[in-house]
Amino acid sequence: MCKALINHKASATVDKKGSPMAPPWPGPANNTNRKGFLSNASPLRGCNCVSKAKTDLWERLFNEAYKADVAIHTDDGGIIYAHANILGTASPVMKGLLKQPKVSRRPRSIAIQGVPYDAVRVFIRFLYSSCYEENEMEEFVVALLVLSHLYAVSPLKRECEQKLEHGLLNTENVVDIFQLALLCDAPRLSLICYRMILKNFKAVSTTEGWKVMKQSHPTLERELLESAIEEDSRKKERIRKINERKIYLLLYEAMEALVHIYRDGCQTIGPWDKDFKENKDPCKYVACKGLELLVRHFAGCKLRVPGGCIHCKRMWQMLELHSRLCADSDVCKVPLCRNFKERIRKQSKKDEVRWKMLVTRILRTKKIAGAPFLSSGVVSSLWQ
Ligand SMILES: [Zn+2]
Ligand SMILES: [Zn+2]
Ligand SMILES: [Zn+2]
Repeated sequence: MCKALINHKASATVDKKGSPMAPPWPGPANNTNRKGFLSNASPLRGCNCVSKAKTDLWERLFNEAYKADVAIHTDDGGIIYAHANILGTASPVMKGLLKQPKVSRRPRSIAIQGVPYDAVRVFIRFLYSSCYEENEMEEFVVALLVLSHLYAVSPLKRECEQKLEHGLLNTENVVDIFQLALLCDAPRLSLICYRMILKNFKAVSTTEGWKVMKQSHPTLERELLESAIEEDSRKKERIRKINERKIYLLLYEAMEALVHIYRDGCQTIGPWDKDFKENKDPCKYVACKGLELLVRHFAGCKLRVPGGCIHCKRMWQMLELHSRLCADSDVCKVPLCRNFKERIRKQSKKDEVRWKMLVTRILRTKKIAGAPFLSSGVVSSLWQ
């Protein structure tokens, strides 16, 4: 995981005693068109509970600026009038800014810069009524996240985080939001962005946001790149293991079918020591059909020597593998089982290690898969 995220998570998720805390989602999310919360400590949460009349009253107070005593100046020369009591109650940071005593009859002034006038207006109105329009949130979510963090308005910050998490976050803006989430102390959002970046790395790394980050925060870009490479190799390793397991399971099934063919006979092949009865029922051994063809070929092939025909070569390998898995060659019906056991004793150390590893992996894979351990009565325990 990238260091920026770890540092951020560490600072954000550890309480005073040093015990870890999960990134929180306090309070339920509402999905109404107009969202609302009152101040941090207010028991009233959301427009569902706050009566419309009360909300309208707060909005009127804001819109009409009746007896407003603060002028908020924005970047583009705009002024928003507000009430110090409301601002100070909704935001502890505003309270601090408005602490100095009023010296004249003129309204006190505050400057909020770096975000558009309309976004500041939505922000201040939220301090009054705890409401916003969905389209305003979509348009100004980034500015509102920054403002809510800077002025410590947690209900709005939470709303912004939820909106981003549930739809406003996309591959185009995720890099910007990720950096912002790190700056704004939003651990849950940072983690969500981080996962999204790794999951869609190819698309994300071609965005404008990525290019800008590469210039402005080369360390963060490098860390994300390293995380993406790690994630990619983890993914490849997972796929490799899955494929490997499939092969071992197939081999295991082939071993079961081999014992079954020589012991019971199946379809067109009879057991060597009993009368052949053509069995019309479908065979329960999945590998039987393929193996049956191989066994029939092996019985009739003129080149039946190891390294001769490709099919016979495969059959020799099957027979050797069986012998290595077979617990009791004396009662085993599979041809050459005992001969192979003799040969194995004279085998080179290198070959033995290779075969032993294969046998162990086949058995381990089957055990992981949860099936009974070598169900054939003949092949009943791990070859030693
Ligand atoms: Zn069969
Ligand atoms: Zn052959
Ligand atoms: Zn055997």
